Amino acid sequence: MANPSSKPASALVADDIRAALDGLLERRTDQTRPTSMGAGSDDLDNGRAYLAATVEGGWHVPTWPAIHGGRDVSPAENQLIGSVLREYVVPDLYPFAIGLGMVGPALLAHGTAEQQDRWLRPIASGAEIWCQMFSEPEAGSDLANVALSAERDGDVWRLGGQKTWTSRAMWAEWGICLARTDPAQPKHKGLTMFVVAMDAPGVEVRPLRQMNNDAHFSEVFVNDAVVADEWRVGDVGEGWRVAMTILGHERAGAGSRGGGDGAKRGTRVPPWIADLVKLEALGGDVRRAEAVSVYAADMASRWTVQRAADEARSGGSPGPAGSGAKLRTVSSYKRRAYLANRAAGAAGMLEDGHGYIETVTAPSMSIRGGTDEIQRNILGERVLGLPGEPRLDRDVPWRDSRKGML
Ligand SMILES: Cc1cc2nc3c(=O)[nH]c(=O)nc-3n(C[C@H](O)[C@H](O)[C@H](O)COP(=O)(O)OP(=O)(O)OC[C@H]3O[C@@H](n4cnc5c(N)ncnc54)[C@H](O)[C@@H]3O)c2cc1C
Repeated sequence: MANPSSKPASALVADDIRAALDGLLERRTDQTRPTSMGAGSDDLDNGRAYLAATVEGGWHVPTWPAIHGGRDVSPAENQLIGSVLREYVVPDLYPFAIGLGMVGPALLAHGTAEQQDRWLRPIASGAEIWCQMFSEPEAGSDLANVALSAERDGDVWRLGGQKTWTSRAMWAEWGICLARTDPAQPKHKGLTMFVVAMDAPGVEVRPLRQMNNDAHFSEVFVNDAVVADEWRVGDVGEGWRVAMTILGHERAGAGSRGGGDGAKRGTRVPPWIADLVKLEALGGDVRRAEAVSVYAADMASRWTVQRAADEARSGGSPGPAGSGAKLRTVSSYKRRAYLANRAAGAAGMLEDGHGYIETVTAPSMSIRGGTDEIQRNILGERVLGLPGEPRLDRDVPWRDSRKGML
């Protein structure tokens, strides 16, 4: 059989993709139920095996250059590959999502050729995991208030400070870290982006346990950690621009291709409704109407997310549409989780109860990746053109704004 991976991308049709993927992946069945968002699972092996199997053909990140684990495809072919991939079992790629969906695109947009050579392929193959070191105790929604400092010392930078809520830090080889390099500049201007080796001296990861029992979500203490200047991503003082690229991709969910718990292609009844039927939870009109309403919202959400993610992958720079996509995903995840859990009755309160893990994970969805309120602010200001919030510290040197002078 001809190797479809070696065909020019422009000749690709769905059957070519299936011919290649049939040798690499299992087809999805009605029984397929991957976890979602890594909730309640520390499974790195399945995702790593999937990425290792698909990297040669560039199937998971097809818009990336072939030399970096992609296959240089057009936006239309990218969408075709995405739709065929949904016929196969794609594990929950949550552990790998920062690298695949956020750092990879940021390195393609802002990284040097050496940085792309060093980091992209290990991301695409699942060999290396990344975490996102942005939030701090005083810099969550107000991210530009980051205080972790980076001071130049010859060819290296010395980093000191604290990050918090760093998901995946326990697993990660690398962290993409927003740091303050010039406190004399206004808050958005004195920031620079660095890559930090998570096992470097001076980097200490302390896991926090969430109510769904996950413990990869961590505080990271950084004490005089040394980072080579070659590991700076973008120019000095341009960290905010790089951060915006990363956050735009995060909202658009560009790392979430495949996986999840959606129905296999062509299935009329999605697995989560089939599960409710098995639980005999859809007997009454009220529950049935609720399930259909959640189903309609869920499908609208999937298509919005898909469109935002495809735009992000194709154009390299997602717009505010990602904020709408994120709000819809969160609402849809929560409604499905709560309905499933209620349907299980009292048994749903048990740790292995139907919908339990999703229910205790759901509240965090409105916070992680930027809160619902912040997504609405973005939509209000950047899509609807409403007046911006008052931002009194915008043009003041960051170190002065910290003195409570405002
Ligand atoms: C499960 C989980 C995983 C996370 N993973 C990561 C990660 O990997 N890396 C990382 O860097 N961060 C991560 N975060 C952090 C997350 O991005 C922040 O928690 C989030 O940005 C909110 O910041 P905060 O918690 O400091 O809340 P605050 O910013 O203090 O906000 C508190 C409340 O005030 C509201 N609020 C604040 N400002 C405004 C405003 N201007 N207008 C309207 N309402 C406002 C917020 O919506 C919120 O309800 C994670 C968080 C969670 C829960």
